[in-house]
Amino acid sequence: IENVEKRFEDKRARRATVALEGLSLSVAEGEFVCLLGPSGCGKSTVLDLLAGFERPTRGSVTIDGKPVGRPSPDRGIVFQEATLFPWLSVIDNITFASRLSGLPVAEYRPRAQELIEMMGLRGFENHAVYELSGGMRQRVSIARAWISQPLLLLMDEPFGALDAQTRLAMQELLLTARERRRSTVLFVTHDIEEALFLSDRIAIMSHRPGHIVEEIVVPYPRPRA
Ligand code: ADP
Ligand code: ADP
Repeated sequence: IENVEKRFEDKRARRATVALEGLSLSVAEGEFVCLLGPSGCGKSTVLDLLAGFERPTRGSVTIDGKPVGRPSPDRGIVFQEATLFPWLSVIDNITFASRLSGLPVAEYRPRAQELIEMMGLRGFENHAVYELSGGMRQRVSIARAWISQPLLLLMDEPFGALDAQTRLAMQELLLTARERRRSTVLFVTHDIEEALFLSDRIAIMSHRPGHIVEEIVVPYPRPRA
């Protein structure tokens, strides 16, 4: 992300919100970076730009040297408002993209089953998502993002809605993924301990308008929560 400005125009009110100004951030392959900052400082906007949901007003947003295009499953997203299909089952939500891309069932079904197990969703495979609690839906979102083993994972407070035990399990899972260095992860959290525990680097943001005020490299080995 290079010198990005993001402005939201409100034509009727004839005013604009400058959500981001002069924001630069570069994340290396395999790195886990956390965005930390007060509400409204533009953390979600940064993720939206990388997901391809928003375009920068100025500056450039590139992944692997290429400008970010439309949203695609090679970027796994776990956003609070990420829409699951409420009337579809847990398994159908998780495997939706795999089925759409025409992958043979034998390729994604075992992985889906493994994720269901990991997320503590066993027994709920065939339940419609609308029947589940908020925390369970969040786990379905995580499973859906992880099934395609995306090279880039974008997560907006992914563990916020989870109970303490599941949160710990998810954090451990992410830690293992981090040690394998297969995925690059950019996530937002309000939990400083989680930031220290899970990231290689913390980018601290401030608002009016949003920019990064400081980057902290987390020493290894990281303090355990
Ligand atoms: P985050 O930093 O996680 O993106 P949000 O900015 O989306 O958090 O909001 C955090 C909480 O504050 C939410 O419950 C939201 O409804 C509330 N909130 C956010 N902006 C406002 C606002 N301008 N007025 C009142 N409540 C707000
Ligand atoms: P955070 O995630 O840090 O809470 P956001 O990225 O959600 O912050 O928001 C940054 C600023 O941009 C806030 O002032 C917010 O009200 C504004 N904003 C975000 N999305 C929109 C939008 N679609 N339209 C107008 N303003 C927006």
